[in-house]
Amino acid sequence: MSLQLTKLDSPSVAGYEEVWVARDPDASYHAILAIHSTQLGPALGGTRLMRYADDDAALTDVLRLARGMTYKCAAAHIPLGGGKSVILEPPSRYDRAALLRAHGRAVESLNGRYVTSVDIGTGPVDMVIIRETTTHVTGLPNELDDPSPVTARGVVCAIEAAHYVRSGIRDLHGVRVAVQGCGHVGKALALQLHALGARLIVSDVSRERADAAAGECRAEVCRPDEVYAAEADVYAPCATGASLNARTIPRLKVSMVAGAANNQLETSADGDAVRARGITYVPDFIANSGGALYLCRVLAGWTDAETDAAVESIFDSSVEVLRRAEQEGISAQTAAERVVDARLRGST
Ligand code: NAD
Repeated sequence: MSLQLTKLDSPSVAGYEEVWVARDPDASYHAILAIHSTQLGPALGGTRLMRYADDDAALTDVLRLARGMTYKCAAAHIPLGGGKSVILEPPSRYDRAALLRAHGRAVESLNGRYVTSVDIGTGPVDMVIIRETTTHVTGLPNELDDPSPVTARGVVCAIEAAHYVRSGIRDLHGVRVAVQGCGHVGKALALQLHALGARLIVSDVSRERADAAAGECRAEVCRPDEVYAAEADVYAPCATGASLNARTIPRLKVSMVAGAANNQLETSADGDAVRARGITYVPDFIANSGGALYLCRVLAGWTDAETDAAVESIFDSSVEVLRRAEQEGISAQTAAERVVDARLRGST
């Protein structure tokens, strides 16, 4: 019960509204909570629970993710800001419920400026435990179903936009898509694309998961490392971040990239490298905003029709950003960030 909160004030957190290190030794709890922006509303961002190489790696992760949430919400006209929290998983056995309750107390201490939810390493059942010590949590089992099919639908709209900008055609019939990761979103995406007549190649580090997805959508399976060189039109990253980097971009044979993973570009230079290769890239925070839009049913009281319309509008937002990038001779990532920066400036 001995929660300690320390506000970080180092140059690395410049541009963030608040970043806190939270500890409760009695619960083996050590976390970082980052609020990037509350300009458009309370900062939304899940709780990631995983082992990190060191504290710096955890800080880098939480900062990138919190900023990404600000951009995702602003790009999708969601009345929420950007935040995130990471819990550094203890190296030895620990009491998970005590750890999550401690996290709830840390979230509660931010008085609603930050609202948490699920992320890698946490699920709806964990949110029930966090709810014992804070009201500022969503993603509980009784609130909503799995957002992944909605996220996948948004990715389909982003792929359609890339195809439309290149060919003038939205229909994905016959378009070859290589899906990396056959988890919640990747599998749903493969099924939706299959229903639209696309041809699929799937890959996953779990061969079992890749085979299961392939079986349902008549896809080819490729080895995880082969997905970058797949003979396809679209590469859809739906696994982990930073998959577009100096090692993978030269290998790509596709002309389009759009997927669900967060932070797909390892560095901002990789956005330029993708452009230099003539590849049409839909920025991740636009392509994967369907999941956050889905949460608006609970957090902003949107109706199903409002949410569906917002998800479908990912097509138009993607086309707008891709056209602007073309016109200004800049990467799509830079174009998307400029659209959001202008929106954030306009809200002051
Ligand atoms: P998930 O954990 O259900 O699935 C990820 C899959 O990727 C797993 O099957 C895993 O085995 C596989 N994988 C991991 N590394 C791989 C690699 N190197 N090559 C191939 N496969 C690999 O996660 P998810 O919910 O499907 O989310 C996928 C991505 O989309 C994540 O980056 C997540 O942050 C992002 N995202 C998800 C949602 C959502 O609604 N679930 C919303 C927005 C963004």
